[in-house]
Amino acid sequence: MRLVIVSNRLPIVIERDENGWKSRAGSGGLVTAVAPVLQRVGGLWIGWPGSGCTDESELERMLVEHGQRVGYELKPVPMSQAEIEGFYQGFCNRIIWPLFHDLQSLCNFKPDYWTNYLSVRGKYAEIVGRHAQPDDFIWVHDYQLLGLGRCLRELGVTNRIGFFLHIPFPPPDIFCKLPWRLEILEGLLHNDIVGFQTPRDLENFLDCIRKLLPDVRRRQRRGVFRCVSDGRTTDFGVFPIGIDYARFAQDAADDAITRRVAELRRDIPGQQIVVGVDRLDYTKGIPDRLRALHLALTRYPELHRKVSLLQVVVPSRESVPEYQELKGRIEQLVAQINGEFTQPGWIPIHYVFRSLEWNELLAYYRAADVALITPLKDGMNLVAKEYCACQIEGNGVLILSEFAGAAVQLKHDAILVNPYDLDRVADAIRRGVLRTPKQRRPAMRRLRSAIQRQDVFWWVERFLSACGVAARCKGLPQAVKTLETGPLGATG
Ligand code: UDP
Repeated sequence: MRLVIVSNRLPIVIERDENGWKSRAGSGGLVTAVAPVLQRVGGLWIGWPGSGCTDESELERMLVEHGQRVGYELKPVPMSQAEIEGFYQGFCNRIIWPLFHDLQSLCNFKPDYWTNYLSVRGKYAEIVGRHAQPDDFIWVHDYQLLGLGRCLRELGVTNRIGFFLHIPFPPPDIFCKLPWRLEILEGLLHNDIVGFQTPRDLENFLDCIRKLLPDVRRRQRRGVFRCVSDGRTTDFGVFPIGIDYARFAQDAADDAITRRVAELRRDIPGQQIVVGVDRLDYTKGIPDRLRALHLALTRYPELHRKVSLLQVVVPSRESVPEYQELKGRIEQLVAQINGEFTQPGWIPIHYVFRSLEWNELLAYYRAADVALITPLKDGMNLVAKEYCACQIEGNGVLILSEFAGAAVQLKHDAILVNPYDLDRVADAIRRGVLRTPKQRRPAMRRLRSAIQRQDVFWWVERFLSACGVAARCKGLPQAVKTLETGPLGATG
C-alpha cells in the first residue's frame, strides 16, 4: 500500500535566481510532519506547486529531480491567477479561514468564491484519480480541501481516504453562517476517517451533524465516533499534531546556536527575553498581546529595564487587505510602546518582520526566558511546542492562550490565559518573568516530556493506525520507529 498525500501546496518552493529556476524544500507544520514519513515509505504528494514557474516542462523537471532527492513522487495541480484569487485567496482565506477561527465578521461570502472552489476541487480530484493506484491510501490535508473526498467518490475512486483538519472546527452557531454548510458537512462523510486537533473541534463537528443532518446515525467506540449515512461509514477522532521534538532539541544544543544564544544575551543584557513568533495573521492576537504588554509596563514599573519582547512576525498573505491593515496596526503599536518606554540601554520591543533561518529561530527559542503565545484561536500552535523543545536548559516559562489547540495537552504546566483578558495577560507576563528557576524547572520538564512523547511521528502513526492502514503501508512501522529513535534525517 502506498501513501498518497494531497494538500493545497506541494512541499517545495520554486524560485528563480540569476541562474534560472531552483527548487528547495518547503517549510511549515505539515511538511515537517509528513515529508520524513513519506520519504521513508515512498509514495506520492499531490498539490499546487506555487505560482512561480509557468514553464510546464521546467516545472516537471524540477519536480522529478526533487522527487529523486527525497524518495517520493510529486505531482502538480496547476492553478491560474483567477483560480488563485477565487479559490485560495477567496474561498479558503476569506471564508473558511476566518469562519473556522470564529471571526465571521471578517468573512466575505461572495458566491463566486464557492464556484471557484468547486472547480478547483474538481481539478484536484481529477489529478488524484489519475495517479492513485487501487491499493493506495489517500490522505487529504486541511481546510482548503474539505470536500475533496466527496468529489473523489463521484469520480469513482474507491480507495480508503483519510482527511485531517489542521485548523479548528467551529460550533454550530458559527458554522451555520456558511451558505454552503450542508455541502461541506456532507462532503466530510465521504471519507473513511476524519481527524481533528482537539476534542472541542470533534464535539463542534458532531454538534453540527446533530443540528444539520439529524438522520446520520452516530455511535462511539473507544474515543472514535462512527457516523453512518447512505450506507457509508466514516470514523471521526482526535489526533493532536506534534513536532519533530528530537530534531528541535538536538539542533538547539548545537555549538553554533549556543554561540548565537550568548550573542543575543549580550545584546539584550540583564533583561528577561520574552519571545513571540507568529505568522502575520489576525488569529494570532498580536495587537492584543502588545496592548497587554503596554498594560504590564504601565502597571508594573519594576518590569522596566527587566523585560524585552522579541516579537517575530513572519510575512503572510500580504495581498489580502485585512493582513496589510493588521501589519500597519502592529507596527503602530510597537512604535507607540517603544516611544513611550524606551530608555538608553532598554528597548521594550524588538520587532522582526521577516522569516527566520532555522538556526536563528532555534536561537531565539532557546534564548527566551518566557514565550508569550496568545492566539485568539489556533488549531494547534506548533510554536508553543517548538519553544519548549528548544528549552534545553529547562528554565523557560510558557504563557499560552487557552484557545490554542496545544492548551489541551499543555494546560497543566503552562500559564494559561484568555487572550481577550488584557488584565490577566499583563499579570501573566509579570508572573512568568518573576518565576524563580526552582518554580520553572519542574513545569518545563513536564512540558518537554509531554511534547516528546506525543511528537509528530506518534501523530502519523496514530492517524494511520486508526485508519487501519499503518500495518499495511509497506515499511511504515519501521519508518516511524527509525524516525523516533534514529539519526535525524532531512525533512524533505
Ligand atoms: N516558522 C517558520 N519561519 C519563521 C518562524 C516560524 O517557518 O521564520 C514556523 C514555525 O517553526 C512553526 C510554523 O512556522 O512550525 C508556525 O506554525 P503554527 O502552528 O504555530 O502556526 P501557523 O502559522 O501554522 O498558523
